[in-house]
Amino acid sequence: MKIGVLALQGAFIEHQRAVERLGIACKQVRVRSDLCGIDALILPGGESTVQGRLLAEQSLTQHLRGEIEGGMPVFGTCAGLILLAKRILNEESVYLGTMSAIVRRNAYGRQLGSFCVTSDMGAIKDFPMVFIRAPYIERVEGEAVALATVDGHIVAAREKNMLATSFHPELSSDLRVHEYFLDMVRGRK
Ligand code: GLN
Repeated sequence: MKIGVLALQGAFIEHQRAVERLGIACKQVRVRSDLCGIDALILPGGESTVQGRLLAEQSLTQHLRGEIEGGMPVFGTCAGLILLAKRILNEESVYLGTMSAIVRRNAYGRQLGSFCVTSDMGAIKDFPMVFIRAPYIERVEGEAVALATVDGHIVAAREKNMLATSFHPELSSDLRVHEYFLDMVRGRK
């Protein structure tokens, strides 16, 4: 199995390290040909507006959308969640728009933007959730299901081959959310 991590901007190295610590090969994806030979893709945190622009500049938006709609497993964290969402409440843009999640960008305000809480994500108990100028999911629709909530807001969701979190599992040493994603990828094989 080989996992790709979108490496246009943001916290991609941390995801790569987490995947490699689990004994799985990980490859940085910057251009379309980098998608060859990968079984799944991680969309890291960072700045969604910048990532969205770079995706378009690399002619990756349409192509990635097609791959995801075709069943490629994808895991978006923070800005990656924003890229996946079919609607961003406080913005006009839609980037990949494949996931039936309605998100609010910078939902916790710009000043008090970063915090850590320990909470459950389904069977994953007491996970240290690091939030950095994070979005949350206002609601899920269709086949999307909420996997975790913090203070009544959805912070993790899954829809078929898509997993998304508001928080940054790659910034803690706890690998259980990455393991969950790798299980999704194995399940497809
Ligand atoms: N605030 C960023 C955005 O809107 C997301 C922050 C993050 O990925 N840590 O794109």
